[in-house]
Formats: sequence, structure tokens, C-alpha cells
Amino acid sequence: LIVQWGVCDAGESDSLRALDSEAAVKAASLLRKALLGRCVATAPILRLEEGVRSLGFNVSRTRLRPETGGAQAWLIPSGRMSFDLPLDPTPISGWRKARHENRSEVERHRSRFLIAHELAHSVFYEQRDDLSHPVRTNPYTPKEEQFCDECARWILVSRERVEQLSVTPSSIRTIHQEFDVSVELAARAFAAVKDMSVLLLYLTDENEWRVQWDSSGDMKAGTSFHGDSRSWSERFGGRFELIPRRGQAVLIGGA
Ligand SMILES: [Zn+2]
Repeated sequence: LIVQWGVCDAGESDSLRALDSEAAVKAASLLRKALLGRCVATAPILRLEEGVRSLGFNVSRTRLRPETGGAQAWLIPSGRMSFDLPLDPTPISGWRKARHENRSEVERHRSRFLIAHELAHSVFYEQRDDLSHPVRTNPYTPKEEQFCDECARWILVSRERVEQLSVTPSSIRTIHQEFDVSVELAARAFAAVKDMSVLLLYLTDENEWRVQWDSSGDMKAGTSFHGDSRSWSERFGGRFELIPRRGQAVLIGGA
């Protein structure tokens, strides 16, 4: 529907079908314009749900049970230029592991990501005059999921803003707070723009540090990371930062 929202023309919209990184960044920039207007397109989108509602998305929370293999969200054409967007912010691993005091924040971050991801799918729909609801402009392929994850990241986080930030781990915390996104999404945005390796760690309920995400792909998620935050501070200096409230830590520039 991106053409119908008036932020691009048909030629520009066709170029997004490449589904590569460049297309994801381009689509996100167009969608930010649709949500925020041209003048403030680098600002955080703090009221995403209201923003997408104005574009015709009816967001609702439903138990879809992603923790038992169900979907996390659906995008369902529901009327002229409109979609129903039921979502379930439950983590794939369930709520058991999440620190209770952070549950509402985790729920909010997951909901925001799922809304942005489904908004990205809507790029490949159009409203034809002779039909009562939007239809796909090209067939769905699994590659579209990767495109939508990347596009969602750049809808939520302004790339231009990340470019302005210094190459220090505290910039990841800044992105996380300023754009109201998870630490992992902030770490992914930072790694992509700064072309810098990032290791994201989390503290388990058993007080053990594990890998949550490694930008280099060397360490699998869930791998134990030996040592403690104090020893890493001494060893890695300014390349390491603890985010105590979230029980997470980031290390940039390789372990
Ligand atoms: Zn999807």
C-alpha cells in the first residue's frame, strides 16, 4: 500500500521487490515518512500503535501461543485500505525466563517490533479499485520474512541517528532507550551501521552469563560465556558495558 499512502511512486515500489538490505532500508525510510511526515522522519516513533492505526491497521492482542509454535502476529486484509493485526507478545521461550520486573517493557518492545514487521509486509499489498480489501502484488517467499525483520528495525530506529552516535557500547544503550526498542534490536542496528562486531550477553536465573546474539555468528545463542561482569570490565575496558536493570551486557570489537 506504500504507493497509496503517497510516499513513493510505482517505480520506487517495484525496486523494493529485490527484498535485499538496500530495499529494507529504503522501505523503512518510506514507512517512517508515512508515519511521521517528511520533516520529522528521523525521530523516534514512540506512539507506533496510534501511527499505524491512522494508516488502517487495527492492532489487537490475542493469545496466538508463539511459545508452543503458534504465530506471533498476523496481517489480515479486512476492508478497503485496512488490515486486522492480531499479535501475541509472549516470547517464543515463554515468560518463565524473563525477569518479572521487566515483563511490561519486554511486552512493549516485542509488540512494537511485531507491529513494525507486519507493517513491512503491507508494502507488498495494494488496494485495487474493483476489490473490497488489499491484495498481494507479488507472491510471498520466505525471503520476505528477513526483509520484514530488517525493515522493522529501521522503522523503529532511525539509521541517520545511529550514524551520529559514537562507536562505544553506551551508544547501544542510547538506541535502546531513545527509540524504545530491545537491547538486541539496538545492538543489531549499531552493528549494521558501525560495521563493528557486537556480542550481546544475558544473565540467566541461575546467575550464568550466556550469549544472546553474536554479530560475527561465531558464538551460538545460549553458549555459556565464562567470567563475570567485573572481570570483563577490567579485561575489555571501554569496549564492555553492563546494562544491570535488564541483566544484559554488550561487548563491541570482538571477545
Ligand atoms: Zn512476517
